[in-house]
Amino acid sequence: MTMKTSALRLLLILGLTALLSMPVAARSAKRWNDKMPPAAGAPRSIGLYTSGCIQGAQALPSTGPGFQTIRRSRQRFFGHPALIQYIQGLGQIMDTEDLGILSIGDLGQARGGPIPSAHRSHQTGLDVDIWFWLQPRSRPMTTTERETAQPPSMVTNGRLALSPKQWTPRQMRLMEAAAGFENVERIFVTPPVKQALCKGYPGAAWLRKVRPWWGHRAHLHVRLRCPHGDPACVNQPPPPEGDGCDATLAWWFTDEARRPPRGKSKPTPMPEACQAVLAK
Ligand SMILES: [Zn+2]
Repeated sequence: MTMKTSALRLLLILGLTALLSMPVAARSAKRWNDKMPPAAGAPRSIGLYTSGCIQGAQALPSTGPGFQTIRRSRQRFFGHPALIQYIQGLGQIMDTEDLGILSIGDLGQARGGPIPSAHRSHQTGLDVDIWFWLQPRSRPMTTTERETAQPPSMVTNGRLALSPKQWTPRQMRLMEAAAGFENVERIFVTPPVKQALCKGYPGAAWLRKVRPWWGHRAHLHVRLRCPHGDPACVNQPPPPEGDGCDATLAWWFTDEARRPPRGKSKPTPMPEACQAVLAK
């Protein structure tokens, strides 16, 4: 064997070993978190918030009146046009009322689908995370800060109370405005936020949409209802009747609620139609 052929053979073996050691998913042509444009076609959210995808997603601009996007490098600024409109509408309210600038965290990937870390939902272009903390209009974050900054937590006292330093009337108004849009399905927040809203806005119908949940101490998570005429989009069951300012809220302040439930529920298989969305 010549030097040349043995070197070639070594290269071949090394390459083959590297290929075989890759996880199966990594070998397929495209992955949900690859950098790619949205799938062409009319906007369609397909499947569940926790197992689905989107065709015809739109990119949220980097900044606009009353908002800036965060961690743009992660490529999670895509959503259903209804979600883009929602964020721009909420930003407009912040801007008009001079409440500060919203920091918009993750929406979804260009074609939705599972996100490698952090979230189970955000798969159909209808979920968005928004920081409670508002950037001062006089000093918006720089592009670098928007990649690295961490949002402050709104809670204190073992997570049972809101921090008076962080939680102000502006955050109350943000929640009222965010929940006021007709197409909002739910908003997830840390339980002390829900408690403050129950006190501040007694009897408000929109309180029903605001759901206490684990985490969500630094951001609110807005979920829109399936857009009209989107037959493959699956809504989750509506929140229970009533404003939720009752014993179900009190439960969140018990010892039992302090730890999130263990064990993961079985993931629902992704709808067949999503394979075509990914392959486009
Ligand atoms: Zn979220």
